[in-house]
Amino acid sequence: MPPENLIDGRGIADQIHTETTLRVESLKARGIQPKLVFVRVGDDPASQVYVGMKERTSRRLGIESTTHVLPEQTAESELLALISRLNADPDTHGILVQAPLPNQIDAHRVFSAISPGKDVDGFHPVNVGKLLLGDSSGFVPCTPAGIHELLLRTNTRIEGSDVVVLGRGNIVGKPMAALLCQKSPRANATVTLCHSRSRTLKEHCQRADILIAAIGVARFVTRDLVKPGAVVIDVGVNRVSDPSAPNGSRLVGDVAFDEVQPIAGRITPNPGGVGPMTIAMLLSNTVRAAEALTR
Ligand code: NAP
Repeated sequence: MPPENLIDGRGIADQIHTETTLRVESLKARGIQPKLVFVRVGDDPASQVYVGMKERTSRRLGIESTTHVLPEQTAESELLALISRLNADPDTHGILVQAPLPNQIDAHRVFSAISPGKDVDGFHPVNVGKLLLGDSSGFVPCTPAGIHELLLRTNTRIEGSDVVVLGRGNIVGKPMAALLCQKSPRANATVTLCHSRSRTLKEHCQRADILIAAIGVARFVTRDLVKPGAVVIDVGVNRVSDPSAPNGSRLVGDVAFDEVQPIAGRITPNPGGVGPMTIAMLLSNTVRAAEALTR
């Protein structure tokens, strides 16, 4: 029997998939076939796995999807030209350029080239700005959007709570903090954003009602950092060596799950917590991009 305080990310992602499938059917009934296009540059093995998973789940939900695979040496101008064609294609509703990109390509320039209305990853400066302004017409990056849904759908009290976000990355930490500090009954948290230069990180963590770890350091959040009863969200994906594993390594999160789970109010398993929600929000965003055409 799994512990009772686990947040079932897979189950909640499945609920969202069911809702998304109904929206896809409604679009199809109106003659619109939602379509998500992935662009992958090079042969990064993790990117291949991530894009493959997202593509399979898209198809399962009835969203058409294709992947453009470009060679590692692709010039930035070639990638920008492809994005320009996809921006102009009326049948493409969402565009996702998978990070990391090779060194010769400026990721910021690439994400800024995607039309904001097709930027289902939420990385375009217009969407980043809308998030900060509390303008819900933009796309929110999928991982923080998924964590927000996990908190809402488990009836976690966000309003008035002390939230500590570990990590100020542009993909998770910063947008997470921006979402939860909004003046809205769905947010209204007091948010502290910690990073590698934070002087009193431990003390901040110890008073968090909700602790969100997104730093990419294996098992960083130990029991002594967590207030008993706190909600703990583990975003990290870290490969550590494990001689007993078939390929000599395995993936672990940023939270020392075995020691934190017994004192946490609720906690995400890892895997099976945040990861499935990231995909669920990507597909929900894609359908929203297609729905915008019908208004
Ligand atoms: P990132 O952009 O590299 O940001 C990492 C942040 O962690 C930085 O702000 C860094 O501080 C901070 N940090 C690193 N070491 C630290 C330490 N010892 N103490 C305090 N802060 C520290 O990473 P990211 O893209 O946000 O990703 C974070 C993690 O989430 C990674 O493990 C990634 O694989 C995972 N992730 C998971 C999903 C999912 O769907 N499950 C999605 C996206 C990312 P500085 O700014 O001071 O350098």
